[in-house]
Amino acid sequence: MRPLTVIGNWKMNGSLAGNAGWVKTVCRGMEQGMPAGRKFAVCVPTPYLAQCGKLIEDCSLAFLSWGAQDASAHVSGAYTGEVAASMLKELGCTYVIVGHSERRQYHHETDEQIAEKALQVLDSGMTPVICVGESADERNSGRATEVVRGQISKQVMVLQDRLADCLIAYEPVWAIGTGKVASAQIAQDMHRAIRLQLAEFDEDVASHVGILYGGSVKPDNAVELFAMPDIDGGLIGGASLDPQDFLSICQA
Ligand code: PEP
Repeated sequence: MRPLTVIGNWKMNGSLAGNAGWVKTVCRGMEQGMPAGRKFAVCVPTPYLAQCGKLIEDCSLAFLSWGAQDASAHVSGAYTGEVAASMLKELGCTYVIVGHSERRQYHHETDEQIAEKALQVLDSGMTPVICVGESADERNSGRATEVVRGQISKQVMVLQDRLADCLIAYEPVWAIGTGKVASAQIAQDMHRAIRLQLAEFDEDVASHVGILYGGSVKPDNAVELFAMPDIDGGLIGGASLDPQDFLSICQA
């Protein structure tokens, strides 16, 4: 049985004062009781990991953890500005997002680099959240499944059965931050396609890997999305900035 996992992605947002309020609100809300067997986390900007980690640790909720939004593909060395996975582990991260479409777009990250990053995250004892997804043009030209299959196949090539310890986030680029959520059926169809592709490699990996949906998830569409058989939770961008919205999505 795959647990439902909801992970917030703050992107480049936050402030010391704002973060403290967010954690306080979310912890208080979650202390009132959450559906059993779920996992929740928030991936914050690197400079806030120590602060948010300490605040979340202090609320002692076993199902709430924190993570980062990227990691280096390298172990250590002359890579100015990069952050090694081992450093994120020292800061208590449970999850690390890799291959977010904004990193693919603005930093030209390739599937091979993303797989190397995921390996570093795994080697450091954390869970990579590997993002895949097609652009609007790719979907409109009928190539959505082909594009996502290509992205997944590179991950399979490098990560092999270690994919069972990863999360995959299907995030159609046209739905990220646009308010255009994929319908629950469109998302389910892609999640099914990903799971079937993984099953071609290894049935066990396919049945274990959690596949999250990301792209304009809000409190009012989360219930329908999370009810789909191959949707194992969500990666939440904009709506995770509001602690009440994040709580509602976690409860959906
Ligand atoms: C994201 O950035 O991962 C994301 C899904 O963003 P949003 O929820 O704002 O579409």
